[in-house]
Amino acid sequence: MSLIEIIPCLSDNYAYIIRDHQTNKNILVDAPEYAPIERYLDEKALSLDFILITHHHSDHIDGINHLKLKYGPKVIGAKRDKHRLPPLDIEVEEGKELSIGSKKFNIYDVDGHTVGHIAYALLEDKALFTGDSLMVMGCGRLFEGTPKDMWESLKKLKQLPEDIKIYSGHEYTKSNIEFALTVDPQNEKLKVRRMTELERIESGTPTVPSTLREELDTNPFLRESESSIVDHMDTANLDPVSRFAKIRALKDNF
Ligand code: ZN
Ligand code: FE
Repeated sequence: MSLIEIIPCLSDNYAYIIRDHQTNKNILVDAPEYAPIERYLDEKALSLDFILITHHHSDHIDGINHLKLKYGPKVIGAKRDKHRLPPLDIEVEEGKELSIGSKKFNIYDVDGHTVGHIAYALLEDKALFTGDSLMVMGCGRLFEGTPKDMWESLKKLKQLPEDIKIYSGHEYTKSNIEFALTVDPQNEKLKVRRMTELERIESGTPTVPSTLREELDTNPFLRESESSIVDHMDTANLDPVSRFAKIRALKDNF
């Protein structure tokens, strides 16, 4: 039995179910819609005990109401975003550990895509749930935060152990790879990774999780100041945040 189950939802979202085998509690990360989650739980006759929310967008919370009524989980989200989240049973903040079942989560504020977005890390199990902040070879679009917000958020996540696995909210990898190659065309690791990820995508296998190490090597949003990108983008005289902003703006129109 694996610890973390990937539940594809909608057209390109992922929800995750963390199976805490020690206490028999199940923890869902985001609820883009209820049907695939309900199907998974009911087929295995599992309870749903907790729901973790990364951010307020409908493609991350729309399934919560139905799941709450049917299974009665405790709903957990960012205290500073609670005014626009479904009713929370537990409010979390950066710097305060969340203990549920036998699992301990570290909470990180990761503004940028939205302001009030959080990521959850299970450091013991080496898993990081990033929602629409850090993604496989990409990062979320900046709807509410500034380039500096997202850059700071990613900088924070870069400090985590490099073998931590990244579970992000979407399958955007195909477009992210093709974009990455346009800003970092000389990156040999990126070229190699492109082949393995494209094989996965073609066979319908999720490209999540990746590892932080892989992202450090190939994700242009973590590499704005690497010489290969700086040379190609001609950004030597810009500061890191402006370099990042330039890459993000190009991706918005890719
Ligand atoms: Zn979103
Ligand atoms: Fe989303």
